[in-house]
Amino acid sequence: YANEKLADAVDLTHHLSELSKRRKTSPLKGMQKYMTKPGTLMLAGGLPDPSYFPFASIGGEAMAPDSYALTTDKPSSSGPLSWLWNIFGASKDKTTPIVIPRFPTGPNELSLADSLQYGPATGVALLQQFIHDFAERVYQPGYKNWTTLIHVGNTDGWSRCVQTLCNPGEVILTEEWTYPSAVALAAPYEVTPVPVGMDAEGMSASSLEDVLANWDEAARGAKRPHVMYTVPVGQNPCGMTMGLQRKKEIYEICVKYDVVIVEDDPYYFLQEGAYVPKAERKSATVQDTQDGFIKSLVPSYLKVDYQGRVVRLDTFSKTIAPGSRLGFFTCNPVFAERFERQGETTTQRPCGFGQALIGQLLTKQWGLDNYVRWLHGLQAQYTARRDALVDGILEGFDSSLSYSDGSYFAAGLPVYSCFLQRGARKKQLGRVLSFVAPTSGMFVWVTVHFDGLPDVPPQDDPEAPRDHETRLWVRFAEAGLLVAPGAFFASTPAIPRADRGHYRIAFSMGPHETLKKGMGIFTKQLQAYFDDALARGA
Ligand code: PMP
Ligand code: PLP
Repeated sequence: YANEKLADAVDLTHHLSELSKRRKTSPLKGMQKYMTKPGTLMLAGGLPDPSYFPFASIGGEAMAPDSYALTTDKPSSSGPLSWLWNIFGASKDKTTPIVIPRFPTGPNELSLADSLQYGPATGVALLQQFIHDFAERVYQPGYKNWTTLIHVGNTDGWSRCVQTLCNPGEVILTEEWTYPSAVALAAPYEVTPVPVGMDAEGMSASSLEDVLANWDEAARGAKRPHVMYTVPVGQNPCGMTMGLQRKKEIYEICVKYDVVIVEDDPYYFLQEGAYVPKAERKSATVQDTQDGFIKSLVPSYLKVDYQGRVVRLDTFSKTIAPGSRLGFFTCNPVFAERFERQGETTTQRPCGFGQALIGQLLTKQWGLDNYVRWLHGLQAQYTARRDALVDGILEGFDSSLSYSDGSYFAAGLPVYSCFLQRGARKKQLGRVLSFVAPTSGMFVWVTVHFDGLPDVPPQDDPEAPRDHETRLWVRFAEAGLLVAPGAFFASTPAIPRADRGHYRIAFSMGPHETLKKGMGIFTKQLQAYFDDALARGA
């Protein structure tokens, strides 16, 4: 990797917010260089003596990195708890003990004395090194002086971005359907979204150019946005995957209009590829090479970032566990320094127990190659789950009434349409449901076509929902199925349309049978809702 040949990041200091510029370096920081000097007597900081930490050691049992096969088939397993492991196709045979002692047992060893202690906001050194090596191997940023910095998950990462890059009253570019917590986080800072249109690859480059080129400050009541929030892989909620070419186009537009791209990418390793209908699907075992897996993934925005204008947010939430509360930035050193200052006065270093356990797992137990192998196994698991859920939807309709309707999204993905049949003569009525099977992430995003349905009649209860989307959502919930209503994900209230409803359906949890059962309820209640509404209107 020819890092040395690349140029440094351009100067993007002018993107820093007033708040961020007001952050001073802590007066205690000057002490830090002496803290690591061997032999120094440390009587300055209020560091509790490690012998007072009530844990002599911590530990657990780590799964083998190849616990999940690289196939969409479920391998059989035996032994205690095999029924549970069988559900997910993992083998319980190969766990190994993991122990972190109070004091290091040698150089380059993790210890509680270090990880549970106060220390720089950059976190435990070994984990810091691992994160840097990982980013270099997988993302290969397009400039020289990029850096990584640990954070407390992408929620924390995005929170630091908003405070570091945005001033009150500013607007940010987002996909028109986006992750609601990202919007909710920015709102109290008086930072609001400007929706950019989407297509089969997520954010549309032409729509972005259109928004930026025709920005009318007076009409919009805000300066042209200089920050973008985007979820390019497993787009939440819509499930698209943005290819390299689109990323290049969007990046060039961001260079032209001087926009910083915040790439929130929790689903990067869950790239499932195109859905193949059940009848045509062949089970395949993929060859186990780490480099092959990494090459098969669409590159991050970092790869095209020759100026240092991408802040990439990675999280261990979907690759280890959400409760890890660990993740990291990859970005230019100017932004990283401000993020670090912010960390010093808010979260400090992430929880030491988590850093110790995850640090030991990644750096000692597994190592980089094995962690990549683990990620590869997860990809296979999520692919099988995506398939099970999409199968369940298509099977919920008569097969002649649910099919790819011949239309294709730009990325060459078929649009599935499902139709309603009614009456003794099985008269085929209009399309009620359409979706594109997701190519990454954890969610299927469906569109319900309410056009053609009579308006919702007046209700006795004035509190009762008046829109079809909410009414159908309540019907699902009453029937025992909870999905997320589309309106939650609208970046602005102007995005949803009355004649269309959307639902985000997660395939991330539970046995495949549960996914199928859930889609049984979904398709049945959907059709019953249309039957009832049409009968009422007739
Ligand atoms: N407040 C005071 C007065 C302190 O002395 C310290 C720790 N030295 C803190 C806050 C930091 O507390 P915490 O480790 O819980 O963030
Ligand atoms: N960003 C997106 C797009 C997400 O979908 C999620 C989780 O659902 C998060 C961030 C939250 O990540 P974390 O657990 O790292 O805070």
